[in-house]
Amino acid sequence: MLPVITLIGRPNVGKSTLFNRLTRTRDALVADFPGLTRDRQYGIGRIGPRPYVIVDTGGIGSAAEGIEALMERQVQRAVEEADHLLFMVDTRDGCTPEDVDIARRLRRLGKPITLVVNKSDTMDPTLAVTDFHRLGLGDPWAASATQGLGIRGLIDHVFEQL
Ligand code: GDP
Ligand code: MG
Repeated sequence: MLPVITLIGRPNVGKSTLFNRLTRTRDALVADFPGLTRDRQYGIGRIGPRPYVIVDTGGIGSAAEGIEALMERQVQRAVEEADHLLFMVDTRDGCTPEDVDIARRLRRLGKPITLVVNKSDTMDPTLAVTDFHRLGLGDPWAASATQGLGIRGLIDHVFEQL
Protein backbone atom coordinates (compact mmCIF):
# COMPACT_ATOMS: atom_id res chain seq x y z
CA MET A 1 0.00 0.00 0.00
CA LEU A 2 1.38 3.41 -0.97
CA PRO A 3 1.69 6.12 1.69
CA VAL A 4 -1.28 8.50 1.74
CA ILE A 5 -0.45 12.21 1.88
CA THR A 6 -3.44 14.46 2.53
CA LEU A 7 -3.74 18.17 1.72
CA ILE A 8 -5.54 20.27 4.32
CA GLY A 9 -6.21 23.99 4.43
CA ARG A 10 -8.58 26.86 3.78
CA PRO A 11 -10.00 27.45 0.32
CA ASN A 12 -7.65 29.21 -2.11
CA VAL A 13 -4.36 28.45 -0.37
CA GLY A 14 -3.32 26.32 -3.35
CA LYS A 15 -4.26 22.73 -2.48
CA SER A 16 -5.50 21.78 -5.92
CA THR A 17 -2.55 23.45 -7.61
CA LEU A 18 -0.17 21.43 -5.46
CA PHE A 19 -2.23 18.29 -6.07
CA ASN A 20 -1.84 18.76 -9.80
CA ARG A 21 1.88 19.30 -9.50
CA LEU A 22 2.38 16.29 -7.24
CA THR A 23 0.45 14.02 -9.59
CA ARG A 24 1.80 15.37 -12.84
CA THR A 25 4.21 12.53 -13.36
CA ARG A 26 1.52 9.86 -13.11
CA ASP A 27 -1.76 11.59 -13.55
CA ALA A 28 -3.92 8.69 -12.49
CA LEU A 29 -7.20 9.08 -10.67
CA VAL A 30 -7.73 6.25 -8.29
CA ALA A 31 -11.33 6.54 -7.24
CA ASP A 32 -11.40 2.80 -6.62
CA PHE A 33 -8.24 2.68 -4.59
CA PRO A 34 -8.85 0.04 -1.91
CA GLY A 35 -10.20 1.33 1.36
CA LEU A 36 -10.65 4.90 0.21
CA THR A 37 -13.97 6.65 -0.12
CA ARG A 38 -15.12 8.78 -2.99
CA ASP A 39 -15.72 12.32 -1.87
CA ARG A 40 -12.14 13.42 -2.21
CA GLN A 41 -9.83 13.60 -5.17
CA TYR A 42 -7.14 10.96 -5.21
CA GLY A 43 -4.09 10.80 -7.40
CA ILE A 44 -0.93 8.77 -7.59
CA GLY A 45 2.30 10.66 -8.03
CA ARG A 46 6.01 10.26 -7.83
CA ILE A 47 8.58 13.00 -7.31
CA GLY A 48 11.83 11.41 -6.27
CA PRO A 49 12.28 7.68 -5.87
CA ARG A 50 9.00 6.52 -4.38
CA PRO A 51 5.34 6.83 -5.39
CA TYR A 52 2.59 8.06 -3.08
CA VAL A 53 -1.14 8.66 -3.02
CA ILE A 54 -2.11 12.30 -2.72
CA VAL A 55 -5.53 13.40 -1.46
CA ASP A 56 -7.09 16.79 -2.14
CA THR A 57 -9.75 17.41 0.48
CA GLY A 58 -10.95 20.63 -1.14
CA GLY A 59 -14.49 20.76 -2.38
CA ILE A 60 -15.79 18.70 0.50
CA GLY A 61 -19.17 20.00 1.49
CA SER A 62 -21.03 22.94 -0.01
CA ALA A 63 -20.46 26.67 0.15
CA ALA A 64 -23.60 26.97 2.24
CA GLU A 65 -22.07 24.75 4.85
CA GLY A 66 -19.61 27.39 6.00
CA ILE A 67 -15.91 27.23 6.63
CA GLU A 68 -16.18 25.78 10.13
CA ALA A 69 -18.09 22.68 9.10
CA LEU A 70 -16.00 22.31 5.98
CA MET A 71 -12.78 22.27 7.95
CA GLU A 72 -14.24 19.91 10.52
CA ARG A 73 -15.02 17.40 7.82
CA GLN A 74 -11.65 17.78 6.14
CA VAL A 75 -9.92 17.12 9.41
CA GLN A 76 -12.14 14.18 10.25
CA ARG A 77 -11.41 12.51 6.94
CA ALA A 78 -7.72 13.17 7.31
CA VAL A 79 -7.76 11.27 10.58
CA GLU A 80 -9.23 8.27 8.89
CA GLU A 81 -6.70 7.54 6.21
CA ALA A 82 -3.71 9.87 6.02
CA ASP A 83 -0.18 8.76 6.76
CA HIS A 84 1.06 12.35 6.55
CA LEU A 85 -0.76 15.68 6.50
CA LEU A 86 0.30 18.68 4.47
CA PHE A 87 -1.32 21.69 6.11
CA MET A 88 -1.20 24.49 3.56
CA VAL A 89 -1.32 28.20 4.32
CA ASP A 90 -1.00 31.26 2.09
CA THR A 91 1.88 33.60 2.85
CA ARG A 92 0.05 36.49 1.24
CA ASP A 93 -2.75 36.22 3.81
CA GLY A 94 -0.38 35.69 6.72
CA CYS A 95 -1.49 33.56 9.65
CA THR A 96 -5.29 33.86 9.80
CA PRO A 97 -7.65 32.93 12.66
CA GLU A 98 -8.85 29.98 10.57
CA ASP A 99 -5.27 28.76 10.20
CA VAL A 100 -4.87 28.92 13.97
CA ASP A 101 -8.07 26.95 14.43
CA ILE A 102 -7.13 24.26 11.92
CA ALA A 103 -3.66 23.95 13.46
CA ARG A 104 -5.18 23.42 16.90
CA ARG A 105 -7.34 20.59 15.60
CA LEU A 106 -4.55 18.99 13.61
CA ARG A 107 -2.15 18.96 16.54
CA ARG A 108 -4.65 16.87 18.48
CA LEU A 109 -4.61 14.13 15.84
CA GLY A 110 -1.11 12.98 16.61
CA LYS A 111 -0.36 12.43 12.92
CA PRO A 112 2.81 13.65 11.24
CA ILE A 113 2.15 17.11 9.83
CA THR A 114 4.18 19.40 7.63
CA LEU A 115 3.19 23.04 7.51
CA VAL A 116 3.52 24.23 3.92
CA VAL A 117 3.70 27.98 3.39
CA ASN A 118 2.53 28.28 -0.19
CA LYS A 119 2.84 31.17 -2.64
CA SER A 120 6.36 31.81 -1.37
CA ASP A 121 7.19 33.00 -4.88
CA THR A 122 5.44 36.24 -3.95
CA MET A 123 8.02 37.27 -1.38
CA ASP A 124 11.36 36.38 0.17
CA PRO A 125 10.97 32.74 1.34
CA THR A 126 12.59 33.44 4.70
CA LEU A 127 10.13 36.25 5.38
CA ALA A 128 7.29 34.17 3.97
CA VAL A 129 7.44 31.61 6.77
CA THR A 130 8.12 33.82 9.81
CA ASP A 131 4.50 34.56 10.69
CA PHE A 132 3.67 30.85 10.84
CA HIS A 133 6.05 29.61 13.54
CA ARG A 134 3.37 30.46 16.08
CA LEU A 135 1.13 27.70 14.76
CA GLY A 136 3.27 25.32 16.79
CA LEU A 137 3.71 22.80 14.00
CA GLY A 138 7.48 22.96 13.74
CA ASP A 139 9.50 24.63 11.04
CA PRO A 140 7.26 25.87 8.24
CA TRP A 141 8.21 24.74 4.74
CA ALA A 142 8.31 27.46 2.07
CA ALA A 143 6.89 26.36 -1.26
CA SER A 144 5.33 27.56 -4.45
CA ALA A 145 2.87 25.21 -6.08
CA THR A 146 2.69 27.27 -9.26
CA GLN A 147 6.45 27.76 -9.65
CA GLY A 148 7.50 24.36 -8.31
CA LEU A 149 9.69 25.83 -5.60
CA GLY A 150 10.46 23.69 -2.56
CA ILE A 151 8.41 20.74 -3.81
CA ARG A 152 11.08 18.06 -4.23
CA GLY A 153 12.52 18.89 -0.82
CA LEU A 154 9.04 18.77 0.68
CA ILE A 155 8.39 15.27 -0.62
CA ASP A 156 11.80 14.07 0.59
CA HIS A 157 10.98 15.55 3.99
CA VAL A 158 7.63 13.72 4.09
CA PHE A 159 9.22 10.37 3.24
CA GLU A 160 11.82 10.84 5.96
CA GLN A 161 8.97 10.91 8.47
CA LEU A 162 6.91 7.98 7.21
P1 GDP B 1 -7.42 25.57 -3.21
O1 GDP B 1 -8.76 26.21 -3.07
O2 GDP B 1 -6.72 25.47 -1.89
O3 GDP B 1 -7.47 24.27 -3.94
O4 GDP B 1 -6.52 26.58 -4.09
P2 GDP B 1 -6.19 26.55 -5.66
O5 GDP B 1 -5.18 25.49 -5.97
O6 GDP B 1 -7.46 26.48 -6.42
O7 GDP B 1 -5.45 27.95 -5.86
C1 GDP B 1 -6.10 29.17 -5.57
C2 GDP B 1 -5.41 30.30 -6.33
O8 GDP B 1 -4.08 30.47 -5.85
C3 GDP B 1 -5.28 30.02 -7.83
O9 GDP B 1 -5.51 31.24 -8.51
C4 GDP B 1 -3.83 29.57 -7.99
O10 GDP B 1 -3.31 29.84 -9.26
C5 GDP B 1 -3.15 30.41 -6.92
N1 GDP B 1 -1.91 29.75 -6.44
C6 GDP B 1 -1.78 28.47 -6.03
N2 GDP B 1 -0.52 28.21 -5.68
C7 GDP B 1 0.19 29.36 -5.87
C8 GDP B 1 1.57 29.72 -5.68
O11 GDP B 1 2.43 28.93 -5.28
N3 GDP B 1 1.91 31.02 -5.97
C9 GDP B 1 0.99 31.92 -6.43
N4 GDP B 1 1.44 33.16 -6.68
N5 GDP B 1 -0.31 31.62 -6.62
C10 GDP B 1 -0.71 30.35 -6.35
MG1 MG C 1 -9.16 23.14 -4.52
